[in-house]
Amino acid sequence: MTLLLPALQSPTGPAASREAVRFGALSLTYGELAAAATALAARIADAGRVAVWATPTPETVIAVVAALRAGVPAVPLNPRTGERELAHILADSEPTAVLAGPDDALPAALEELRRVTVDARAETGHPEGPTASASGPSVTSASAGEADPESPALIVYTSGTTGPPKGAVLPRRAIAASLDALEDAWGWTGDDVLVHALPLFHVHGLILGVLGPLRRGGALRHLGKFSADGVARELGSGGTMLFGVPTMYHRLAEVLDAPAGEAGGRSPAGGAERDALARALAGARLLVSGSAALPVHDHERIAAATGRRVIERYGMTETLMNTGIRADGVPRPGTVGPPLAGVELRLVEEDGTVLEGPEAIGEIQVRGPNLFTGYLNRPDATAAAHTADGWFRTGDVGTVDADGYVTIVGRKATDLIKSGGYKIGAGEIENVLLGHPGVREAAVTGEEDPDLGERVVAWVVAADPGSPPPSEELADHVANQLAPHKRPRTVHYLDALPRNDLGKIMKRSLHVR
Ligand code: ATP
Ligand code: MG
Repeated sequence: MTLLLPALQSPTGPAASREAVRFGALSLTYGELAAAATALAARIADAGRVAVWATPTPETVIAVVAALRAGVPAVPLNPRTGERELAHILADSEPTAVLAGPDDALPAALEELRRVTVDARAETGHPEGPTASASGPSVTSASAGEADPESPALIVYTSGTTGPPKGAVLPRRAIAASLDALEDAWGWTGDDVLVHALPLFHVHGLILGVLGPLRRGGALRHLGKFSADGVARELGSGGTMLFGVPTMYHRLAEVLDAPAGEAGGRSPAGGAERDALARALAGARLLVSGSAALPVHDHERIAAATGRRVIERYGMTETLMNTGIRADGVPRPGTVGPPLAGVELRLVEEDGTVLEGPEAIGEIQVRGPNLFTGYLNRPDATAAAHTADGWFRTGDVGTVDADGYVTIVGRKATDLIKSGGYKIGAGEIENVLLGHPGVREAAVTGEEDPDLGERVVAWVVAADPGSPPPSEELADHVANQLAPHKRPRTVHYLDALPRNDLGKIMKRSLHVR
């Protein structure tokens, strides 16, 4: 198998002076990043497993590349994780050291670990190419980390949307396979410059957003914190691709929608700023959304203002990327595209029957070189998540149309409502509610019902909290656009929906208090 990060192996000459990562004013070339990672790899070579305090900084990039180079599995930690969840992750993953930046204040739970400080500033201005400044055991070029494609490279915790986060053990084989499938789908090259504003402790921000550009020999520019201005600035000055989660595209759509000269959405953008954003998005090679469903309404607003279509891809921590719209494909709002190269995908009925045809709705199961090895310390959960013949049960429910495009209906556990003999997908109703001018945010769940089994319940954040649209009006809107059995029986009004760091709606916290 080829190396995971060939461009960082031993860059020399022009390859070494190419920009690899930029965070604000701090930029590292391939030569500087390779040198920093080589030196750090030597310092952690004897650690069994390391935790990475994954702030959106170049230090996190150096730490992860160093761990890959040393062959030491890395566990990226969300710096905003609460005490209890952090304790769970540390007890589960048992790192011996934590890699953090010089200014990071670490919580008490991490104090017992050896702290290895990573300082990106100290690494800039190196002569081209990796330096020999490393002390301690030396780690040579291909070395331990690149030797075995099946050895664990990263242990990434799932988002915890449906329960406590589980540690997915990801071998280099899976990471390489998934990134190569995206290269195939998106024509992703070393000339691409990724504009990035995602956290660096999940698959989206770390594997796609950091290892993706580095595998190609391209660059990433991280905004630190997402803002419409930042997106406009970076896409307007050389950025070619934007990876975002639906909440980010929602905010861009709000800015694009704002009447000229007025504040747009949550970020104050006058007409000129809005036009700059529209131009920047229109000029991008690729706008990609993932991690959760992109509401059709936002998709359409962005297309109307920019002439550009956001394309969706569908993945999971355990499987990395499963499907995606191709750069040269036809985006269809509400769909996540066909399976990526090398990925097999099927729909399965609860009794295990494999379903065929565009009418079929069932659990999505996938198989391919993109799959994880298993959950850390959870052989039971790993076994339960797989069929006897090696398919992974995603827990997501979907449909596949005649062209092979997959539509995610939602999660089996929370988004598939069984009401009056029908199977109803929450996502479809959410999209229709979001199309109502009085609705800013919407989530749909099923609630136990003595007659229907379950009934459709809507949770709505009104566009104008002072005069929310009446529940009857919203229910009629859904019934008229979709079907009477999809009509919400109850509408709850909230100030905001509960969301996690990626903007995913935490449906398990939606219940009547
Ligand atoms: P946990 O497994 O801990 O409950 P999680 O499933 O949210 O959390 P992730 O692995 O980060 O953790 O997310 C994967 C899930 O995100 C998928 O199973 C799917 O439900 C959802 N998802 C990802 N991309 C998309 C997309 N483009 N459209 C709809 N849903 C998506
Ligand atoms: Mg999951």
